[in-house]
Amino acid sequence: MSRYIPIIGLEVHAQLLTKTKIFCSCEVDFGGEQNTRCCPVCTGLPGTLPVLNKQVVKYGVKAALALNCGVGQYTKIDRKNYFYPDLPKAYQISQFDLPVVKSGKIKIETEDGEKYIRIHHAHIEEDAGKLIHDNIENTSLADYNRCGVPLLEIVSEPDMSSAEEARAYLEKIAGLLQYAGVSLCRMEEGSLRADVNVSIKRPDATKLGTKVEIKNLNSLKAIVRAIDYEIERQTKILDAGDVVIQETRKFNDNRGITQSMRSKENAHDYRYFKEPDVIPVIISDEDIAEIKQQCQY
Ligand SMILES: [Zn+2]
Repeated sequence: MSRYIPIIGLEVHAQLLTKTKIFCSCEVDFGGEQNTRCCPVCTGLPGTLPVLNKQVVKYGVKAALALNCGVGQYTKIDRKNYFYPDLPKAYQISQFDLPVVKSGKIKIETEDGEKYIRIHHAHIEEDAGKLIHDNIENTSLADYNRCGVPLLEIVSEPDMSSAEEARAYLEKIAGLLQYAGVSLCRMEEGSLRADVNVSIKRPDATKLGTKVEIKNLNSLKAIVRAIDYEIERQTKILDAGDVVIQETRKFNDNRGITQSMRSKENAHDYRYFKEPDVIPVIISDEDIAEIKQQCQY
């Protein structure tokens, strides 16, 4: 029996199964020549305006029903500001406080029987591009084909306590989204990715431990290995009488370890504000009934 209890939460990014991007009519197919599936809107050129893809909202509602969550009937689009070379606009269009999917819970099977994992919310947002570091030495190239690909980010409560529970939760989410027909959930193609939050605490502690976020895990195997490694790393730190630093880490698949990327941002660092170019969406009871009719669950 371990001296500590692991506390694990997941942020799952699932690509929604639309033909075109979330705010323009560029195609979203996997692969293809770099920078051939982008336009002035998804590369954020001055003077362009985003137009919300209605199908993304419909898939959001479908996902809410499949995931046993509430539907946010007044849902708002926001700007999340940060600078990174794979994000040419220097902000991501996302949702902050009024997401399309409200809270709920799903059941997973564990070695000790059934367990419920609560979902805090899920929101729609655009994906960023991709940086390619290994084609030319000492040079990074940007491929913007993925900019504006529609994602659903599903944020769980920290209700899991082992890597195996995290795996069961992710498999359940993927199965429900596939069944609902809203995402292919193919990890090898990047249509399902997860960020994992891990902290540990002593059984008698009343407060949660400091959490560490591990970004962009793209296989079940990597998720399990990263969580197990992180629990062990934090255990060693606490056993030595040191403190865990709140930070974002990445998983090095070859070495099987997590490595520090940067100190963790808080929500206020992103200076969220209402996206002025996209009006809020109102989803009526009739809209939900109509979408429900198209579902077999
Ligand atoms: Zn475009």
